[in-house]
Amino acid sequence: MAVKKAAVKKAARKTLQKKWVYLFEQGNKDMRDLLGGKGAGLAEMTHAGLPVPPGFTITTEACNAYTAAGKKPPKGMWEQTLAAMRQVEKAAGQKFGDPKNPLLVSVRSGAKFSMPGMMDTVLNLGLNAETLPGIAKKFNNERFAYDAYRRLIQMFGRIVMGIEAKKFDAIFDGAKAKYHAKQDTDLDTNALREVVAQYKALYKKEIGEEFPEDPYKQLQLAIGAVFGSWMGKRAVDYRRINKIPDNLGTAVNVCTMVFGNLAEDSGTGVAFTRDPGTGENELFGEYLSNAQGEDVVAGIRTPMKIAELKEKNSRVYNEFRKLAGQMEKHYREMQDLEFTVERGKLWMLQTRTGKRTARAAVGIAVEMVNESLITKEEAVQRVEPAQVVQLLMPQFDSAAKSEAAKAGNLLATGLNASPGAATGLAIFNPDTAEKLGNEGKSVILVRYETSPEDVHGMYASKGILTQHGGATSHAAVVARGAGLPCVAGCEAIRVDEEKRLFTASGKTIREGDAISIDGGAGEVFAGEIKTVLPDFDKDEDLKTLLGWADEIRLKKSRKALRVKNAPEVGLQVWANADYPRDARMAIKFGAQGIGLCRTEHMFFETDRLPIVQEMILSKTDAERQKYLDQLLPIQRGDFVGIFEAMGELPVVIRTIDPPLHEFLPSYETLLIEVTELRIRGNDPAKLKEKEEMLKAVEGMKEANPMLGLRGCRLGITMPQITVMQTRAIIEAACILKKRGVNVHPEIMIPLVGHVNELKNQRELTEAEAQKVIAEQGVELEYKIGTMIEIPRGALTAGQIAEYAQFFSFGTNDLTQTTYGYSRDDAEGKFLLRYVETKILPENPFQALDQIGVGRLMKIAVEEGRATKPNLKIGICGEHGGDPSSIEFCHRIGLHYVSCSPFRVPVARLAAAQAAVAPIAKDK
Ligand code: PEP
Ligand code: MG
Repeated sequence: MAVKKAAVKKAARKTLQKKWVYLFEQGNKDMRDLLGGKGAGLAEMTHAGLPVPPGFTITTEACNAYTAAGKKPPKGMWEQTLAAMRQVEKAAGQKFGDPKNPLLVSVRSGAKFSMPGMMDTVLNLGLNAETLPGIAKKFNNERFAYDAYRRLIQMFGRIVMGIEAKKFDAIFDGAKAKYHAKQDTDLDTNALREVVAQYKALYKKEIGEEFPEDPYKQLQLAIGAVFGSWMGKRAVDYRRINKIPDNLGTAVNVCTMVFGNLAEDSGTGVAFTRDPGTGENELFGEYLSNAQGEDVVAGIRTPMKIAELKEKNSRVYNEFRKLAGQMEKHYREMQDLEFTVERGKLWMLQTRTGKRTARAAVGIAVEMVNESLITKEEAVQRVEPAQVVQLLMPQFDSAAKSEAAKAGNLLATGLNASPGAATGLAIFNPDTAEKLGNEGKSVILVRYETSPEDVHGMYASKGILTQHGGATSHAAVVARGAGLPCVAGCEAIRVDEEKRLFTASGKTIREGDAISIDGGAGEVFAGEIKTVLPDFDKDEDLKTLLGWADEIRLKKSRKALRVKNAPEVGLQVWANADYPRDARMAIKFGAQGIGLCRTEHMFFETDRLPIVQEMILSKTDAERQKYLDQLLPIQRGDFVGIFEAMGELPVVIRTIDPPLHEFLPSYETLLIEVTELRIRGNDPAKLKEKEEMLKAVEGMKEANPMLGLRGCRLGITMPQITVMQTRAIIEAACILKKRGVNVHPEIMIPLVGHVNELKNQRELTEAEAQKVIAEQGVELEYKIGTMIEIPRGALTAGQIAEYAQFFSFGTNDLTQTTYGYSRDDAEGKFLLRYVETKILPENPFQALDQIGVGRLMKIAVEEGRATKPNLKIGICGEHGGDPSSIEFCHRIGLHYVSCSPFRVPVARLAAAQAAVAPIAKDK
C-alpha cells in the first residue's frame, strides 16, 4: 500500500514537473517532435542570433494531453505559459494588458510536418478597448490601432468561436460601400471604429456574451482553439492524404507581434534561398509593403518580386539576404523563410526546408555538393525517386493541365500504371494505331484491355489507356517497358471497341478525337494538353547525381545487415529488356545487365506470329519441329542483337512462359467468324481453316490459364520449344564469342514449383547447350537458373538450388500466388478499393508485401544460399523498379534488381538510398 502511494505521489510530481512550455531560446532545430517545425525553426534562429521577436512554444505533448483530456490543458501548462509570458514581456520591454505599453502576441499552430493552411492562427491578442490607445500612441497611428482591433475580433470570432467568416465580411463590405472605399486601406479611423462596434455586436449576438476583453482569456481560448484545430476536419483529411499520423499533435507558438502594415517603410515577405522551380542559386520570393503576412496569402494586392526590394530598400534587402544565406549554411539545406519589416526593422518569423520541384531538387543537391555544403550521400538522399521518374517522362505543362481541368475536360481517373503524359488521337484498334503512328501521328491506343496481339499498336502509340487490368496487366507491363504513359483499369470509362468509342462523365470520345492522359496521376482528359519533353542525355545534373548514387551503392558495405553470404556491397541495377532497342535504352540509362528477357514477346511480332501459331497447332512432333526450325534463326537474330547491345554484361534469357492459347486468336472472335462463314456459306476453304483453329483453341482453353499450362510446364510438355530456344541463345552467344566479345548468357526456367521440374529442364538445356558449343568449337561460359515465383518454389529453395546457378524472384507471380489474387482481375475488381479502405496498406503488385511475399523471399534466399553459398539472386518482377521494394531487396541481400529500362535511373537512386539508410523493418 505504501509503495502504491509513493508511486502515485511520484507520478503526480512528475506531471507537475513536466515541461510543457519552451522559450524560443530553450529549444533547437532537433526538437521538431516536441516543438513542431515552426517552433524548432524559431528556436534555432533565436540561437543563431537572428532577429526573432521574443516568444515561446507550447509542446505537441501538451496538445495530445489536451485532446486526451477532452479539451482540457494538462496540469501546469497554464502556469508555465504565464511564467513564459513574464519572460517575453521582459525581453520585449512591454507588458501584456498594460494600457500604456501593451504587448500584443500572435498564436500560431506548428506541427512536426508542415500542413499549409490546415490549422489556425490568431493575431493581435492583447488588444482591447483599454490597450488600444497605447498601441495608437506607440505607433502614432490611431487608424492602425483600430484596424488591428477589428482584425483581432474577426479572427478570434471566426477561428476561436466558430462564427461564419461571411458574417464579418458582410459588415466590412457594408462599411466599404457606405464610405465608397475601393480598398480596405481606404477606410479611415472613424469607419474602422464603426466596424469594430458592429463586429462586437455580431460577436455578442452569435455567442451570447461580450467579446472577451481580458487579454489572458483571449490567450487561453486562442491556445485551446489551435490545439482543437489539430483534430479539425480539414487537418484530419490532410493527414489522411499525406499519411501523417494523428498522434503527433501540434505545438502552439506564442510570439510578440511585429507589424508589417504600419506604413510604406513596413512590409512582409516570403522567400526561398534558391529558386524552388529551377534550383537556381538566387533568392526567390515576394514582398508586399505595408501589409501583414495574411494579406500576401489572401492576394489583396500583387506583391513585388523580392529582387525589387533591393531597389526599394537595399539596406533591408541586403540584411535579409545575409540572414537567408546564414540560415541556408546553418541548415545546409534550401530554406523557405518568412519575415516582416516593422518601420525599417527586419524580423524573421519562420524558417523551414523549402519544397521544390523535381528539377530544383536535383539541381540544388548537385550544386550544394559542388559548394562543399553537403556530402554526396546527403545529395543522393535529398532527391525522391519519384522526382527522378518525373524528370524522365514527358509532362503536361502544369498551367495547361489546370486549365483543362478547370474547363471540365477531366473525364476519368484510373490506375496510374506508367508515368508520363501523352496527348493524341484516341484510336481503338492496334492496326490503325500502328498505321497512323507510322505516319507520324500522335496516337493514344484505347482498349478494354490489351493482349500480346496489340503490341505493334502499343509501340506505335504515345500512350495507352485501358478500361480493365491492373498494375501488372499486359498494358501496364508493356507500357512501363517501353517508357510509355499508361492509365490502366480505368473502370470509369466504357470502351466499345466495335463502335470505336468510349464514354465517360457523360461525354463520348470517338476514334480520331484528341485525348490526353497523365500516367503518373492516372488521369484522362478530353482534348489536347501541351506536353514538355525531357532529354536524359543532356541532363547533366541528373547524370551527375546518379553517378554519385552508383559510387555509393557499389562501395557501401552490407556487413551491418548480417545476412549470411550476402554480397559485400550494395545492389546492382539490371533491366528487363525483350528487344535490342530495349537493351540499348537500358544501357543508356545505366543498367549493368539484363535480368529478364521475355522471349515470348518476340513471338508476338507480326512476322512471327503465324509461324508460332502453326507450331502450336501442329499435330505431330515432326510438324512442330518444322516450324520451330523456322523460328530458330529469327530468335537467334534477336539474341545476337541483345548480346551486341549488352557486350560483356550478363544477359538473363527466360524460356517460354505464357499459356499457348495467348498466341492464338480469341475463342469468342473465332466463334463469331465461324458462325458468319457458316451462314454465308460462300467460302468453304476458309470455313474449314477457321473451324480447325476454333477446335484447337477450344482444346487449349483453360478455366484459369495463369495457373495452367505455362512456364516450365510448357517446356516439359513440349520440350522441343526449350531445345530450340536454348540453341538460339547459345548459337547467338557463340557468334559474339567468335567476334571476340566475352558474352555472359544465362538461361532462366520460369514457374518452377518442384525441383524435378527444374531438373528436367536443366538436363534438356544443358545437353543442347553442350551440343551447340561442341558444334561451334568455342569456349563459352553460361549459366542455368530459375525463377522463384511460386510459393512452393520459395519454400523448397534449398532443393531447387541444387540445380540452379541463380535465382530470380518473379514477384508478379509470387504476389499473385501468395495472395491468391489474379493479377489480371484483382485491381479492376476489388484491389483498389482494398487500398482505398485500408484493408491493404498498399497495392501489393506495386509495392512488395514485405511481411508476406517478402517472407517467402527471405526463406528462399536463406535456404538457397545454405545449399549454394555463392548463389546469385536477383528480382525481375515489377517490384524491381519500386523504391520501397528495392530497399527490401537490399536488406535481404539480393545481388541485383531488374526493372524496365525507364525505371533504371530511379532504381539506381533508390539502391543508393537503401545503402546509406539506417536498417529498417519489414513493412
Ligand atoms: C514475374 O512473375 O514476376 C515475372 C517477372 O514474370 P512475368 O511477369 O512474365 O510472369
Ligand atoms: Mg512470372
